[in-house]
Amino acid sequence: MKKMTCPDCDKEFTADTPENMMDAMHPHYMSDHKEIIEGATPENKKEWMGKFNEEWEKAESV
Ligand SMILES: [Zn+2]
Repeated sequence: MKKMTCPDCDKEFTADTPENMMDAMHPHYMSDHKEIIEGATPENKKEWMGKFNEEWEKAESV
């Protein structure tokens, strides 16, 4: 399991794979960062994914 902080606030999540981490963050984005999802261009999404993958690599194992 790895621990990650939401790239857009301080909420923490734990998951065993990047896919599960994204599944865990998705409902949180829908409720707390809806405007980010709704306003995202394909370019924004690519950027977010790049940031996410970087953070995942750096995330500490728990
Ligand atoms: Zn957040």
